[in-house]
Amino acid sequence: PGGPLGSGSLSKGSQPTVRRVTSSTVEEIRRIDANREQRRRQAEEVRRSRQEEAALLGAQCGGHVPDIDFHRMIQNYRLSQQCPQPTRFEPLDPGAPEGVIVCVRKRPIMQHEVTNSELDCVTACNPCAVVHETKLKVDGITKCLESHQFEFDRVFDEECTTEDVYTTVASPIVPWVLAKGGRATLFAYGQTGSGKTFTMTGIQRLLTEQLFEHVKRASSLDLTISISFFEIYGGRPFDLLNNRQRLETLEDANNEVQIAGLVERGTSNPQEMQQCIDLGNSLRTTQGTAINRDSSRSHAICVVFLRKAGGGSIHGKVTLVDLAGSERAADSKSSIRQRRVEGAQINKSLLALKECIRAMGDRREAHVPFRASKLTLVLRDAFISRCPAKTVMIACISPGMASADHSVNTLRYSDRLKEHPRSGKAVE
Ligand code: ADP
Ligand code: MG
Repeated sequence: PGGPLGSGSLSKGSQPTVRRVTSSTVEEIRRIDANREQRRRQAEEVRRSRQEEAALLGAQCGGHVPDIDFHRMIQNYRLSQQCPQPTRFEPLDPGAPEGVIVCVRKRPIMQHEVTNSELDCVTACNPCAVVHETKLKVDGITKCLESHQFEFDRVFDEECTTEDVYTTVASPIVPWVLAKGGRATLFAYGQTGSGKTFTMTGIQRLLTEQLFEHVKRASSLDLTISISFFEIYGGRPFDLLNNRQRLETLEDANNEVQIAGLVERGTSNPQEMQQCIDLGNSLRTTQGTAINRDSSRSHAICVVFLRKAGGGSIHGKVTLVDLAGSERAADSKSSIRQRRVEGAQINKSLLALKECIRAMGDRREAHVPFRASKLTLVLRDAFISRCPAKTVMIACISPGMASADHSVNTLRYSDRLKEHPRSGKAVE
């Protein structure tokens, strides 16, 4: 009497109804078996392709395999968005009425980050920059992609060169400064290691070339080029062209802010100007006498003056500012007193800078709070000037997952300098 599951072994005397039920049960079981087999094969297939993908990524990452699901979700996001970079970089019009340009530069992922299994979690999708994070859905198992999107005037991806950045945001400024007698200020903002100094030193070099060329062409203006270079560390200016001499800021009878004793070097050709800049940059990174002085804790300010020949009045001015690492603002909670004081100064200056740029962009706002920090005080010209003024903010971001929070903070800070409608968060 085989059991109910015996294959086709129903005894002759069985009732037809019983036989029907039994055969359909067998069919059902076969179907379940087949489905199970199919699911097993599919799972096997998925596992094999993940292994292949992991091996491929692992080979690129020196054996350390990053989160494959996250990697896939980001790849799918990029495919679905189709974000080609422009092949030509058109200069942005510095004549935009609000006078503020905000752009983002994403640096390439570094080998040491790849070795640490870091994934590139930033997508440049003009005019937006997107930072991806993984989150778990409410079921606590399924991963999903959280994408923070912010809109800017231009986003430069890791393939873009400093020349591309310069052509777009800086090169139109030179003829504008010459023609209008303007004051232009360019900032590099971002976390330490995000490429601020890399970007700024490139801009310094390209500006040097372009400036001499244009000043020569506009010979009727009879202008000379001179430069000052200083850093603000712990709320105090130090002269980078004079062996880090400690300086004082003063306000004269006309409420003009002066830095007493700041050296201004005349330069008569691009090589001389570049030498001055190199000197300043080298003094920045050399350890000073102060304990643990480090370039991430100071703002470096390079001012290029265009003066009427013979040491005359200022015709125009271009100021390049390599800001302190934005993450240093959080040092205001450090247990070490000196760090805490420095962090608080940085926090104060970056917040004041944001308010000043916002106030400058929004011309309805009459009050520019430039006195709120030493940084904004010495940059007063950038925000309140009888002369036309322009500001360019370059927000630098590191693409690695470990920097995602900092990158979101940098983009949020820069986003607030100018209102854009397309910023927001999406979860898929
Ligand atoms: P920060 O000044 O923001 O602390 P750096 O400019 O010193 O950062 O950059 C950190 C590192 O990354 C440096 O080694 C720099 O050469 C490199 N780097 C930054 N941006 C780029 C880029 N766009 N392309 C290639 N390397 C870069
Ligand atoms: Mg730096």
